[in-house]
Amino acid sequence: MSRPIYLIGARGCGKTTVGEALARALGYTFCDTDHHLQRSTQRSVAQIVAEEGWDGFRARETESLRAVTAPATVIATGGGMVLAEPNRRFMREHGQVIWLSAPSHILAQRLESQPEAAQRPTLTGRPIAEEMDDILRERAHLYRDAAHHEINAMQTPDCVVDQIMQSLSLARAS
Ligand code: ADP
Ligand code: MG
Repeated sequence: MSRPIYLIGARGCGKTTVGEALARALGYTFCDTDHHLQRSTQRSVAQIVAEEGWDGFRARETESLRAVTAPATVIATGGGMVLAEPNRRFMREHGQVIWLSAPSHILAQRLESQPEAAQRPTLTGRPIAEEMDDILRERAHLYRDAAHHEINAMQTPDCVVDQIMQSLSLARAS
């Protein structure tokens, strides 16, 4: 059976965009752990954190990761999924893990150019570029640790998809 493909990386690296295109190219199902979490709890991330704290949110995130894991599935993970070691190990053991890597200023630019509705306020009220810088400094080694392959996310989504397929020796479904 085809093992699942997990996409990891900070917000804005293209997990949703690339994940949907990759799933189409391979004839796989696409899943997003954040969407699964919100659907299964009928609450937003902010609501879960307010009611259960970050620990509660992280525990539910781990449940979502396990729930969406299935053969022939491309799984876009929440940006903080790699923070917990059991999540990193679970992904590596159950599938192929791809890190979509891009520098913080590119991630910030992409997030700032999203439509208002898709933008989330920064956690600290500081400029988003500064926040992304801190996040990458804190997490880059975790993404690197968890990933089987690091892919340059500063190419067009089609090129990113091609590179992932090459690195996994997978061919297009049609
Ligand atoms: P994530 O799911 O990792 O947070 P998204 O797929 O939602 O990232 O992408 C964030 C923003 O960046 C979107 O506006 C998307 O259109 C844009 N984007 C994603 N991948 C690329 C890319 N390879 N090149 C240029 N823009 C991209
Ligand atoms: Mg996304």
